[in-house]
Amino acid sequence: MPTAQIMRGLAAAPGIVIGPALVFNPVSAAGAAAAESPEDAMARLDAAIAEVDIAIAALEEQLRAEEQAEEAEIFGAHRMLLGDPSLRERAAALIVEGGMGAAQAIGAAGEEQAAELIAIGDEYLSARAADVRDVVGQVQRRLTGAKGLAERLEAPAVVVARDLGPSDLISAPRERLLGFALAAGGLTAHSTILARALGIPAVVGLGEDLLDLPEGVALALDGAAGSLHIDPPAEALARLRGARADIDARMDAMRADVGLPAVTRDGRAVALVANASTPAEALAARAWGAAGVGLLRTELLFLERPDLPGEEEQLALYTAVAAELPGAPITVRTLDVGGDKHLPAFPLPHEDNPFLGWRGLRIGLSQPEILLPQLRALLRAGAAADIRIMLPMVSTVDELRRARALLDRAREQLAEEGLEQAASPQLGVMIEVPAAALNAEALAREADFFSIGTNDLTQYTLACDRGNSRINELYQPLDPAVLRLIRMTCEAAHRHGRHVAVCGELGGDPAATALLIGLGVDELSCGPNSLPLVRAAIRAAEGAAATELADRALACASAAEVRDLLS
Ligand code: PEP
Ligand code: MG
Repeated sequence: MPTAQIMRGLAAAPGIVIGPALVFNPVSAAGAAAAESPEDAMARLDAAIAEVDIAIAALEEQLRAEEQAEEAEIFGAHRMLLGDPSLRERAAALIVEGGMGAAQAIGAAGEEQAAELIAIGDEYLSARAADVRDVVGQVQRRLTGAKGLAERLEAPAVVVARDLGPSDLISAPRERLLGFALAAGGLTAHSTILARALGIPAVVGLGEDLLDLPEGVALALDGAAGSLHIDPPAEALARLRGARADIDARMDAMRADVGLPAVTRDGRAVALVANASTPAEALAARAWGAAGVGLLRTELLFLERPDLPGEEEQLALYTAVAAELPGAPITVRTLDVGGDKHLPAFPLPHEDNPFLGWRGLRIGLSQPEILLPQLRALLRAGAAADIRIMLPMVSTVDELRRARALLDRAREQLAEEGLEQAASPQLGVMIEVPAAALNAEALAREADFFSIGTNDLTQYTLACDRGNSRINELYQPLDPAVLRLIRMTCEAAHRHGRHVAVCGELGGDPAATALLIGLGVDELSCGPNSLPLVRAAIRAAEGAAATELADRALACASAAEVRDLLS
């Protein structure tokens, strides 16, 4: 049993839950050498793979029927992993040459594949190792009769596991799966993404010690804090219960406020919109009263695919997102790969400085065969919805001009083909590079709107890799240098009648809302779950006080001083 009374991991999905531990080992079937002939082992393995394929296909179909397209996609990808001939070939070699039984061989073959994915050292591909383990675990359970999570969860519990797959989460009865704690897992693993979408509190990345927890030990899991309390004393339990009651009460109050306008106390309207990249997220955004989508990251729509979708498929995707928020503005960012963003459909060459290299709009402009169909699909989707097109990683006015020329070409093509398109499409620029903020005056003459990507603007301003934990002390969106660039951007935009949004993570931080309003920001875009908090912060703000707060923040010497000011 871990000695620490509180274990700390990554805050994967918010919420506080208290209950007994259920220690679950999804791949428990390894066992000893074969008690079956190679022929029998192969026949049983093939039958088990076929059965699992049928079961996953049924789950995928059920999710599609329930219009949960995003979740269904995950299981489509699982069928591809299961059908991957190299998985079966590895297992066959272990059975025939290694003398293993069917369950042991498929387990070992899956682990080899998972280890290879992890060894590539890419966060996205590492997260896919959990998907391989998920499908392999299902095959093993068919072969051994071992119980899956759904069958193990006979009573409400906090599930403890090395890793969990999406199929475990989707099939587990929601009322008994209080939350989960994982030894492995990352913030972009599918189990994490699903936990957030399904509202299941979770902490991941707790380390292997977690697996020494005894079955049934009392646990309290705080998903927002990323902590797991083991056998908490009565006073800690009382504190956590109190915190949970506070959260519930606050959420209830905020739910009641969903319909209230996002205006400051002195009547200044702030457009409150959502970062949403799937129809499901757009639906959640509507439930929390978003006035539209402020950032649709198209690369997330293409994450699970072996190839990039063509124009027709993209048109269907954008139309589906827009349909969840009828009549509302939907700001769609063109493909932003490179840096830390990788797509299986678009492998990138090795670069010494990927964040300063071939990424975002730079790729789109040099590969018009990728950007042009995307612009065509966006223009066509804009015939029936308020679609606004946004360019990522713009450094110069020349890049904006070249993108506009491509947009004009797309418009001419569609007109010649007699296809319906947006009458007057808006083309905006993300302000993520200090050069764009410093040259905002020139950009504002030609761009229809700005959206400040504070995640990248922070990393480029402070020359600090946003994903490098060794230097995360330096990564401070509230650094006065970043704030100064935000104010410059707003002033330049307003001189030309353009509006400015913030769509980086800072836009969803209620502690920074008044400051951003004071700096001149007109629109805040954040994850659906942050909408109620930001709405409350907007409604609590007051124009003159916000401006004064911003002036004082700009006079601070450091991010720490700004934070003190805000608290
Ligand atoms: C940003 O950089 O702030 C942003 C919103 O874009 P992304 O996080 O997708 O790079
Ligand atoms: Mg960015």
